[in-house]
Amino acid sequence: MYSTTKSPKNFSAGHVIMRQGDTGENAYIIEDGKVEITVENPNGQKRVVGTRGAGSMIGEMSLIDNAPRTATVTVIEDCTVLEITKEDFSRRLESADSVLRMTVQVILTRYRDMLNRADLKKQNKVESSAENVERCYLEQTDAVENLRIASEFMSALENDEISLYYQPIIDLKNGDIYGFEALMRWIHPEKGFISPAVFIPVIENNGQIVQASNWAFKEACNALKRIQSATQYHRDLNMSVNFSSEDFSSPNFIENINNSIKETGVKAEQLHLEITERLLVAQPDTAKETLAMCRKAGMGISIDDFGTGYSSLNYLHTYPINTLKVDQSFVRDIQEQKNSKELVRSIITLGKNLDMLIIAEGVEHLEEAQILKDMGCHYAQGYYFARPVPEDEVIKTILEWENRDI
Ligand code: C2E
Ligand code: CA
Ligand code: CA
Repeated sequence: MYSTTKSPKNFSAGHVIMRQGDTGENAYIIEDGKVEITVENPNGQKRVVGTRGAGSMIGEMSLIDNAPRTATVTVIEDCTVLEITKEDFSRRLESADSVLRMTVQVILTRYRDMLNRADLKKQNKVESSAENVERCYLEQTDAVENLRIASEFMSALENDEISLYYQPIIDLKNGDIYGFEALMRWIHPEKGFISPAVFIPVIENNGQIVQASNWAFKEACNALKRIQSATQYHRDLNMSVNFSSEDFSSPNFIENINNSIKETGVKAEQLHLEITERLLVAQPDTAKETLAMCRKAGMGISIDDFGTGYSSLNYLHTYPINTLKVDQSFVRDIQEQKNSKELVRSIITLGKNLDMLIIAEGVEHLEEAQILKDMGCHYAQGYYFARPVPEDEVIKTILEWENRDI
């Protein structure tokens, strides 16, 4: 429960709590009810950019600067709100525990930086166009949302809100299951599903990814062990885990990987590390040594989203890579675009000449799987075969697996 120097206020549906363009010296915490956030562009067109409910804060910008409100907030379901004034906020901050005070100050400084950057971007474009006002608001909202993600992620990990889903990878030769890719999921108790495409970049930025990846690798090893013994599948299954470049800055990377393998008893040969070309460019030396150690221990190293990154292919023979994952954007166009088809064919030939395994991502239709198989692609992954699902469902999928037509 929150408390402020003021007593809670009640607003009925239709009441405007704050208006775009006005200056304000207070923020509100919504205790109950719902509000709608609207942005008006210079042509007078209004657009709803979101709603907020219990537990959300609105107007928080006014606690850190004197800029006019960037949106209008209207009550759509009767609300009870707590008001926080700038004065109240500063007083609390001054009397707060020193660690807390420093943390808030650091977060606010970063927040202000992000807003300034969003503002700079805006100034570089034609000023005051309709889109600019809306984009500026959305960028500010993103900045707030990212701060929220960063501040909630670690407790989400501890509270089991983060889990892994597993998407089968299929052997195109015979339709068998070759293995899985482990994909992180965040089911937030209030917001529901948060996409990894949203939270992974945030935790990559603030370094929390290192702990998350360590957790994911261990959890994936444990799951592989459980899946293997629950299904008794007729061949050893593989598990691919995604890593980010930040993971390779961690001095304990190899130690953590080895510990997870030792503790769970899975074979190193069953594990694959998925990395992107960006990682190899960002961390050339550290990554090289670390990957060489993993490969020597038997693990596979896959290049994710192959073909979307850097033009230099030099790294393909200087790094210990054994698998290329063809990016889904090429697979999506494989039937209609002759260029995409030829590009995929070239990637397959290139990979095979280097003794690599090729996995095509994003296969949604039988025809794509057939084209890929005819081109000699080894494995495929995509909604045509199976979607990413939690562990119990993936076990069911394997037990009931009937090889798809290819
Ligand atoms: P990715 O590594 O390229 O993963 C494949 C993405 O494609 C997944 O999205 C998957 O659900 C989706 N996908 C699979 N088959 C199909 C298909 O047939 N059609 C379409 N349209 N999409 C398909 P998801 O799970 O939302 O993950 C998005 C990205 O987030 C991943 O892309 C990866 O870059 C990142 N990510 C997810 N989990 C982790 C993790 O544990 N660690 C790190 N570092 N990154 C992760
Ligand atoms: Ca991946
Ligand atoms: Ca990918």
